Amino acid sequence: MGDITDSIEQSFRKASPRSAEEFERGREFMPGVAKGAYFYRPYPLVIERGDGCHLHDIEGRRYVDFHNHHTVQILGHRHPAIVEAVNQQMERGIAFGAPIGTETDLAEEICRRVESIERVRFCTSGTEATLHAIRLARGFRGRSKIAKFEGGYHGSHDAVEVSVSPPLDRAGPDTAPYSVPTAGGISPSAIDEVIVLPYNDTAAVERIVSTHAEQLSCVILDPKAGILPVSDEFIRAVREITRKHDVLMILDEIVAFRLGPSGLQGAYNVQPDLTTYGKIVGGGFPLAALGGRTDIMNLFDPTDGPTGFFQSGTYSAHPIAIVAGLAMLRELTPAAFERLNSLAERLCSGLREVIEQRGVAAQVVNLGSVFSIAFTSHELKSYRQLATSDGAMAHRMHLALLEEGYLMSHTMGMNSLSLAMDKSHIDGLIAAFDRALKRAEAA
Ligand code: PMP
Repeated sequence: MGDITDSIEQSFRKASPRSAEEFERGREFMPGVAKGAYFYRPYPLVIERGDGCHLHDIEGRRYVDFHNHHTVQILGHRHPAIVEAVNQQMERGIAFGAPIGTETDLAEEICRRVESIERVRFCTSGTEATLHAIRLARGFRGRSKIAKFEGGYHGSHDAVEVSVSPPLDRAGPDTAPYSVPTAGGISPSAIDEVIVLPYNDTAAVERIVSTHAEQLSCVILDPKAGILPVSDEFIRAVREITRKHDVLMILDEIVAFRLGPSGLQGAYNVQPDLTTYGKIVGGGFPLAALGGRTDIMNLFDPTDGPTGFFQSGTYSAHPIAIVAGLAMLRELTPAAFERLNSLAERLCSGLREVIEQRGVAAQVVNLGSVFSIAFTSHELKSYRQLATSDGAMAHRMHLALLEEGYLMSHTMGMNSLSLAMDKSHIDGLIAAFDRALKRAEAA
């Protein structure tokens, strides 16, 4: 297999000498790349511009974009509604240290769409949204521990960088996972505060939550939309268990908000206490939000004097991001979601057919317009089966598909569609996937 990987990497290098140069130039000043998620082997392609569902690299090669900036670009690149909203705001100025009024329109749009959201606050990233939601839950309940799911991702602050991708030999029993730090430098006390739960195991969740209920402020749930099949019954069961034990439920819809007009909670009929938003909510700009029950969110309301709670940030609720987010949400009508999600169904059934015909150990997971390919034959019930996915195969497929003109996530997880696509892009990817699979697996 090393030979195949080498030959696929070699042809990638041959097609991208300028990206290689840029990578080496950048390394003189940055540790590898500008941010962690940019890196893949042997080096990332440098992108010059995006238009509709296409990205163009600095070599002048064009790719159909199924990565969509970590699922954000649901309308495709340079959508006229976003460009116009941003340009209009730029004409007025960039940031004033004061509200522009449009924040209310975006907050109202979110509250109107999502039944459980009564009040909203804006910040800059999903990381901040989960940080503030967790802090609020701790303060509201007066308890310090939190519970999260093994394999769930909520950003990069200490409280949630626990058991995101633990090595299986350190992860502990299936039904009582250990708390394993995800990166160096995480405070040991942060790790002690996090209880880890397994996905899709209602009995284990009930047992663990009831054991720790007296110290537990919240359960934060990443539904891993389009990455791991987490059943709607399970998500509703988590709601019931948390309610029964008087523990808050935070639903992380940072990816899942792109599933439909009211996100995953609307589709699954679940009412969390708090919800976090990011990605599409800023229309491609750095914006995120947290929202939920008035009695909890109003801890941020200073109108009647200090509450002891505070949320802010220099770039939180940035005007450009606010207007872009509002423009994006307004484009996302029920009909738009219907079209997008039916394109995704067409794609995923096509990919599944190719996998079956080729007899490869691979599975397509999808929910709405998010999809992932896991190179494993294990039934995907929890993080532990997903962790058996063959990363070397994903790497070969990523590079082989780039050569075919299709850009996917380099892990093959959390790919997504955009409304700039039509059936030709979908059918094109299915055919390219077949050719890439043949190449990536060749003996
Ligand atoms: N939660 C989920 C489910 C995510 O997918 C992400 C980012 N991929 C985050 C939180 C963190 O968001 P951000 O990268 O904006 O900090």
